[in-house]
Amino acid sequence: MTGPSRLDIITIDGPAGSGKSTLSRLLARQVGYSYLDTGAMYRAVALQARRRGIDMRAPGHLAELCAGLDLRFETGPGDNLLFIGEEDVSEAIRTPEMDLLSSTISAVKEVRDAMTALQRRIGREGKIVAEGRDMGTVVFPQAKYKFFLTAAVDIRAERRYRERLARGESVAREEVEKELRKRDEQDSRRTIAPLVPAKDAVIIDTSRLSTDQVMRIMLDRMRQDS
Ligand code: C5P
Repeated sequence: MTGPSRLDIITIDGPAGSGKSTLSRLLARQVGYSYLDTGAMYRAVALQARRRGIDMRAPGHLAELCAGLDLRFETGPGDNLLFIGEEDVSEAIRTPEMDLLSSTISAVKEVRDAMTALQRRIGREGKIVAEGRDMGTVVFPQAKYKFFLTAAVDIRAERRYRERLARGESVAREEVEKELRKRDEQDSRRTIAPLVPAKDAVIIDTSRLSTDQVMRIMLDRMRQDS
């Protein structure tokens, strides 16, 4: 018996600060695929729930919210914008509060079901690089190439810390590490679609690698497997 055909999809999963976003964007550009940032989708649900005062753990209300949420990506030159209806929320979803709320809300089954369905719809035609936590395990198990990026927690925290300083935030390094550890723990311990590498994923520890080096490893693996 033959299994489902492997889709023209590249999945990149891993914890916060592992280099997923940078690498996913670059890889998508390099191979001419579109880029799907699934973390942004969970962030948008969290933002909207917050604005409407919905309890982050109330399944019924969250399911309703997801069903009526008009989420849309717009890809411009070097940009990947996310819209809720007509509103560009790309900036509003990138706050420390949304880091944690998106993690909390993403543990709710109803939210995951809605986002998984939407992600599969977006990926239907293939030719995408899908980035997140459960791309290779749950959403696109038949993806052609799967990568799982990781890095030591202090290095990931340092990367996040620098990003936040660059955004003009004044934040303590220890605070960033504490939040990151908390989010990792929530994401790894939840029962549905936890953060784990798919059995057939290539695991890359990016702690001591440059972006170029990681990119080369990925492209080499894809060449070997094709
Ligand atoms: O990747 P990013 O940090 O933007 O993701 C925000 C949160 O969304 C993560 O901490 C995780 O809880 C959740 N997420 C998820 N599944 C995905 C992508 C993100 O649960 N595929």
